[in-house]
Parts: sequence; C-alpha cells; structure tokens
Amino acid sequence: MTIGQVSRNANAVYSRPAGHTVSALRYEARDCRPTQDAEAFESARAESETLNEKATIRLTTLYISHPSFLDHETPYGHPERADRLRAVEHMLSDEAFQMLARDQAPKAELETIALAHPEDYIDTIRKTAPSEGTVHVDADTCMSPGSWEASLRGVGAAVYAVDQVMTGKAANAFCATRPPGHHAERGRAMGFCLFSNAAIAAMHARAEHGAERLAVVDFDVHHGNGTQDIFWHDADLFYGSSHEMPLFPGTGAANETGKGNIINAPLHAGDGSDAFRAAWDERILPALDAHSPDLIIISAGFDAHFRDPLANIQLTHQDFAWITQRLMDVADKHCEGRMVSILEGGYDLQGLAASAAAHVSTLMRV
Ligand SMILES: [Zn+2]
Repeated sequence: MTIGQVSRNANAVYSRPAGHTVSALRYEARDCRPTQDAEAFESARAESETLNEKATIRLTTLYISHPSFLDHETPYGHPERADRLRAVEHMLSDEAFQMLARDQAPKAELETIALAHPEDYIDTIRKTAPSEGTVHVDADTCMSPGSWEASLRGVGAAVYAVDQVMTGKAANAFCATRPPGHHAERGRAMGFCLFSNAAIAAMHARAEHGAERLAVVDFDVHHGNGTQDIFWHDADLFYGSSHEMPLFPGTGAANETGKGNIINAPLHAGDGSDAFRAAWDERILPALDAHSPDLIIISAGFDAHFRDPLANIQLTHQDFAWITQRLMDVADKHCEGRMVSILEGGYDLQGLAASAAAHVSTLMRV
C-alpha cells in the first residue's frame, strides 16, 4: 500500500492511501492511545523499508544464463555439449530453486574482454567463427556459427554478475554459461575455452568497481592454466586451484606460484573427498584468507565428480556443497559474502546437475 498521509487524533494513529477520505472519527470507539507522532511514524516506516530492502538483498542469489549458450555447437560425441546446460537448467527449474532471481546474460563489450586478452586475439576469435559447420581452433576447441555470440554472452554473464554483486543488488550469483573459460590464456584458446570469463570478471571488478584484491578459486578437476597465465605477474590477483595431476593441461604443479599469488594443490587420480578437503583446508583456504579478497570468483567445474568421464577424482555432490560453504565463510569474513560463480567443466549430465544443484542451494543459504 502506498502511504499517502499519516493522521493523528486523540484515539488513533493510522495511515491511508492518497485520496482516501474516510474520517478517523469512525474509530472513536477504539480506546487506544497514539504511541508515536507523525514524525516518529515516518522515521520508523523509512527504517523498516530500508531493513526490508537489505533483508531481500541478503537472501537473493542471482542465476544468469541465456539461450544462445545452446547455439555454441561442438561435433557429435564432444563432451562439452549443449545438453550440459540443459541438464543444469532442468535441475534448477525445480521448485526448490524458485527463490532464485533469474536474468539473461547481456553481450560483453569488446573493451571489457580486452581487460584480459589482446585485441588481435579477440579479432582472430571473431573472424574464426564460421558461417556454417564447425571449425577447430585447436585439437579439442571448436567454433560454430553461434559461438561468437555465446562467447560474448559468456563474458557478459560474468561481468553482469560482478556488477550486481558489487553494487549489492544480489548477495551472490551463479552463471550457467558455455563455452567455459579457465583454459583460455591471454592469447590462446584451448581446452574448450575461448575467453577467460573468470579472469575478465576479476579485471572488470577492479576497473569498474574499485575492488583492489581479487580472487579466483577453481575446483574444476583440470588446472585453470588460462587464469593462472593472466594473473601470473599481479600480486593483487589471487588464483587457487585443486586439480588432478597428471592430467590436461599439464600445468598446476605446487611450485608454480607467480608472485606468491598462485596456490596450486594438485591431487592424484583416485583421490577422493578427504584429499580434496585437506587440499582446501590446509593449503588454498588459508592463503585465500590471508589475501583478504574484496570479491571471490569461483571457477565452478564439476568434473571432479565420481561419475565424470574425463577425470578420476572421486567427489560427490556433497563435496561441492562443502567447498561452496567454506568459500562463503571466507567471503562473509572479508567481503560481505560477495561471490560470483561461473560454470566451467562437468561432463556427466547426472553428476553435473546434482553437483550444480548442491552448489547453488548452498549459495542460496537454504
Ligand atoms: Zn575441467
């Protein structure tokens, strides 16, 4: 109801919509006393509205996706396929996720992508997109006619999520996008990835929102060589990753530390929940805590799930809920809970959907 006017007489303090003419005298028989004058009432109302707004913001997790992500086509049998996103979408359409705020991913500006990639590289990717069929950018990275728009909106989702979280319009956000991004180096597409969504999101938070200390944490089962490459020389940009080794892309040894801002915690094939949790509790989370980030960005790959065909780390969906909560604890301590999560890998549809659901429901604090 719109509060039009606040009236007071001997017996009642009440509010009524603008233009409403019912007299307060109707309520004479009610033997109540005013507890506050009009000024106090207005002040309490304004405070209550502010509190309501804050409460709503704290509870809102934003989910960002776009139909164009399905138009990034890969050859038959390729593990990075549109059905992955359909599986996530289907899972998050469940009633349990009705409280998610949902938005469509905008296209990123080329200047934003240039925060992490040289302009000639961006131009090469744009020109590589075919008008029909698919072309290979490297042995396992492809582009189809829809890939350019999907790439722009993939970056756009991450950047929009940063905008919403940094301005307090959402508590945190999950971007269901493809192609993934963490293998894309400064000037090289690889490992199904064209642009480094997470690294660009971090650079954007710094350029547009004044964030000084950024962190990308990566629990995808593959090492995020692209993010590491882009962050390597900048001590304010933290990168922490657990991943299987040896495995694609071959980087991620514990002695790859950049300016001391890179923490790699390699795992062995066959390792499961205990080794995964120990890597985060003993190595990555203490370093992330010490970095004191203004925003945490998650490279959320779910291919360490035991069902995944591309790796051999035996996690369950509960491990992804666990690491999400641990990261939220750090975000609560240092940056009012600000987190932006971006989908990377996860190639078993059932394992991916269950893990993404566990991740998002933890983000929602339900
Ligand atoms: Zn992966």
